[in-house]
Amino acid sequence: MQVGQILKSKAQSGVVTITPDQTVGAVAELLSSRKIGAVIVSTDGRRVDGILSERDIVRELGRRGAICLEDKASQIMTANPVCCEIGENSDEIFAKMNEGRFRHMPVVEEGEMIGLISIGDVVKARLAEMAMEKTALEGMIMGF
Ligand code: AMP
Repeated sequence: MQVGQILKSKAQSGVVTITPDQTVGAVAELLSSRKIGAVIVSTDGRRVDGILSERDIVRELGRRGAICLEDKASQIMTANPVCCEIGENSDEIFAKMNEGRFRHMPVVEEGEMIGLISIGDVVKARLAEMAMEKTALEGMIMGF
């Protein structure tokens, strides 16, 4: 399945973004209230400057304690994250996520973000494909 189809099938469209100067504490509140695992960091709301995930926050909390909640998002985000485009296949995305050990990927078109996909979205898409393949194979075996 292509990334574009995965984006269309998502219940929530749009990307939750923050600006680089927002505090880590504010980001933690946002992740909690929106029930999401990562946000895109963007100065202008269109280009991807970085990504900040719950793992970044937990890592800093473990390393330096609650003082890190006063940091700016830009201080602990991952700059220039790996992005994908709508025409890419979910298998390629899964391989990149697995190789890079991350679970989120911004989707960009002509340098501007148009969505975000998570490893959960990719797994869901793959399971739907496998169910369709199974039905098709059963149909062939039964002679439908
Ligand atoms: P995650 O598994 O997505 O929560 O992220 C694990 C780590 O990888 C964190 O340090 C994130 O900032 C970073 N990360 C998340 N998504 C990406 C990405 N698409 N490209 C590069 N790093 C990422």
